[in-house]
Amino acid sequence: MESPIQDTVETRVQSVLAKIRAATEKAGRPAGSVRLVAATKTVAIPQIAEGVRAGLSILGENRVQEALTKIPAFNHSQVQWHFIGQLQRRKVRSVVGVFNLIHSVDSLELAQEIDRRAGDAGHKQDVLLEVNIGNEPTKAGLRPDDVPDIVSVMARLPHVSIKGLMAIPPPTGDPESARPYFRKLKGLAKLIDAQHLPSVKMEELSMGMSNDYEVAIEEGATLVRVGSAIFGARHV
Ligand SMILES: *Cc1c(COP(=O)(O)O)cnc(C)c1O
Repeated sequence: MESPIQDTVETRVQSVLAKIRAATEKAGRPAGSVRLVAATKTVAIPQIAEGVRAGLSILGENRVQEALTKIPAFNHSQVQWHFIGQLQRRKVRSVVGVFNLIHSVDSLELAQEIDRRAGDAGHKQDVLLEVNIGNEPTKAGLRPDDVPDIVSVMARLPHVSIKGLMAIPPPTGDPESARPYFRKLKGLAKLIDAQHLPSVKMEELSMGMSNDYEVAIEEGATLVRVGSAIFGARHV
């Protein structure tokens, strides 16, 4: 049950930020090495603004159209926008340069389109590669076994900068059951770093959501994507 008095976006933001700090410290990792991406799909601008006043500084959107209506309502010096949803190639032109980081590059063709559009705009786009870490048949993302080869090809794209990996483990109610998948993503990042590709450095691991972000932090997450723990359950 939600408490009607205490449970506001503001108190939830503060609580999630405190838990991130505690989990970071408990894992023996440097303060500030984990950043919160607030997943704001379906959340209205006033609620997002309340979150920003409470300390959110990175907002993650899933749909291009929805994001483009929200972005102008916020001050660019105050917040960064990340794209975390599935990205269609025909929408790439609208996202390049608008989002500081695209978490969800899941094919070579998408990376090539980002490279082309970023080149047109005189921009270098930071991206993460989304990995289907549980090899789920219906989920987006690169197959883990394919990632090392694909990265070596993508590394040659001049207007794309590969910053790390992102994954959404198979859904279960139990955060502990996500741990092996987080560990596997970290292992894959290490494998890629060991390839020593020019301009590829696995600086970011985007993993962990409302149910399991503390476990993800223990396993090396640098970006956690948290929605319902901040804004409440989504009804749409
Ligand atoms: C919605 C969403 C989240 C946040 O999920 P919660 O369980 O609400 O925290 C994280 N990542 C992606 C890609 C999402 O679409």
